[in-house]
Amino acid sequence: MPKAEVITIGTELLLGEIVDTNSAAIAKSLRAIGLNLFRTTTVGDNPKRIAQVIQESMARAQAVITTGGLGPTIDDPTREAVALALGRPLEFRPELWEQIQERFVHYGRTPPENNRRQAYLPQGALALENPVGTAPAFIVETERSTLVSLPGVPGEMRHLLETKVLPYLQRRLTLDGVIMTRLVRTAGAGESWLDERIQDLEHLSNPTVGLAAHPGRVDIRITSKASTLAQAQEMLSKVQATLEERLGQVIYGYDQDSLEGAVLAGLAKKHWSLAVVEVGLGATLAGALAPLGGPFSGGQVLPALDPEGLSRALAELRGELQAEVGLGVILQTSEGQNHFYALLETPDGREEKERTYGGASINARRWAASVALEWLRRRLS
Ligand code: ATP
Repeated sequence: MPKAEVITIGTELLLGEIVDTNSAAIAKSLRAIGLNLFRTTTVGDNPKRIAQVIQESMARAQAVITTGGLGPTIDDPTREAVALALGRPLEFRPELWEQIQERFVHYGRTPPENNRRQAYLPQGALALENPVGTAPAFIVETERSTLVSLPGVPGEMRHLLETKVLPYLQRRLTLDGVIMTRLVRTAGAGESWLDERIQDLEHLSNPTVGLAAHPGRVDIRITSKASTLAQAQEMLSKVQATLEERLGQVIYGYDQDSLEGAVLAGLAKKHWSLAVVEVGLGATLAGALAPLGGPFSGGQVLPALDPEGLSRALAELRGELQAEVGLGVILQTSEGQNHFYALLETPDGREEKERTYGGASINARRWAASVALEWLRRRLS
């Protein structure tokens, strides 16, 4: 099985001034063509260090992708580093210089002499024309590996990756497998409850179906492998449909969806806003809801309270925030047992819920938040 490595280049990345989103984007794309990514490395703008990292990666992997450092200034070190790493000189490519000049003319400008630098590529490199920017990207083949150097700007990088590099790597490494995954996210059902209903699917070999439990929530991961994206997608969809049929309401979302997001979407649909009072949970609920904003109007974290006290505090907060929905939760731990009490008030009525959690106390807060949110989600659907 061929292996891949990614190298992101830029001192800005090491200083924490920009976040490396290119690695994640490439990781996802490589997974989709069935190429295993083994390592990602970030390195600053120093040609010697970059050259060293490139050599190390090329010694381990059949495909190495770099991003960044292809700009026109002296600080853009990737071309030089690749030349150093491969022991090949940089050569001037008149046709690239012409393309760069044409691009500038197209935008009514004259290219600064600096941009000539971008027309130099390591000997033997295959130039990848960059229609969305000026920096030409390139691919160099060695006896054992393929090295791809892409620009750092995420939009340019993705465009070249998708339109040129992935098809190239698929051909070059004769990758015949496409791998796709889908997460089916559930709450309010334990692992054993799910197991009972989908055990036969868990024994499939393609697609595979596996469970990952989190406090109060369980994700079901479906992974399919096929020779085309369409086939892999169809295989996923079939298993997903079976899961939906068997599990129904416990599914709150897919892939990046969150339970908090599902609750807020349900509230938004009804044009209701939410106030939350938490006792014994820290600010687990408010901390998860606040960044999403929308119908979450506010939360209060209070010290020990009994259900009556909670009810009063919730009424007060709801009034203050003019929230249609109030959710109050008490989590109390005694003798290793976690007791959960919750109160839910909506324009449709008032309900209470009590539960006990037998899992590890360290997970109790997240569990309590999941139970409370899932309860609210069901009431909204
Ligand atoms: P160009 O010549 O098109 O600017 P470049 O290869 O010279 O491309 P860099 O100068 O290294 O690219 O980076 C340009 C910008 O792209 C950075 O300022 C940053 O905003 C963004 N960028 C670079 N690397 C990454 C990365 N790994 N993840 C996210 N953004 C990045």
